[in-house]
Amino acid sequence: MLLLQKERPGEMLTIYDDSHPILREVAKEVELPLSEEDRQLLFAMLEHLKMSQDPELAKKYNLRPGVGLAAPQVGVSKRMIALYFYSKKHGYVSRLLVNPKIVSESVKQVYLEGGEGCLSVPRFYEGEVFRNYIISVEAYDAMKNEHVTLRASGFEAIILQHEIDHLNGILFYDRILPPAQALFKKQEAIAI
Ligand code: ZN
Repeated sequence: MLLLQKERPGEMLTIYDDSHPILREVAKEVELPLSEEDRQLLFAMLEHLKMSQDPELAKKYNLRPGVGLAAPQVGVSKRMIALYFYSKKHGYVSRLLVNPKIVSESVKQVYLEGGEGCLSVPRFYEGEVFRNYIISVEAYDAMKNEHVTLRASGFEAIILQHEIDHLNGILFYDRILPPAQALFKKQEAIAI
């Protein structure tokens, strides 16, 4: 079952929802140097996120607004993710990462008040998802064309962990804790 069914331009991506088994696969490492095909897919994923945040285009093409997308969500089981989000400190941030790997994480945890959402999950799931507040990620950066180690905290760290989970076949609702456990965790974690 596809989330996007309305008429849209031919080059637009199709988002697979969680009824598709590709969302549960462990995605394959991407060979470097990056092929033109993989690069184009990453930029198309970024374009999708940008369009999804434009109210007019989102309405026209029936897009749900998203801040991150992983290649398996568009039917490609490869370790590639795109992020596009607004940060008070840096303005709009775009990231295209290949073979991202979390190399360190804080003990401190963070969660989104109201819980997380996902372009591949058409239903609402109640409950918080606890993530590491600060993480370091090693990846090949397809915008800078070099290997990078980036440090992210708060909202960006949440998006990165959500998208990297997709590369391992994990969906955010797998991580929702029973209410009593969540209540306990909340006392220690940062809410954003
Ligand atoms: Zn998702």
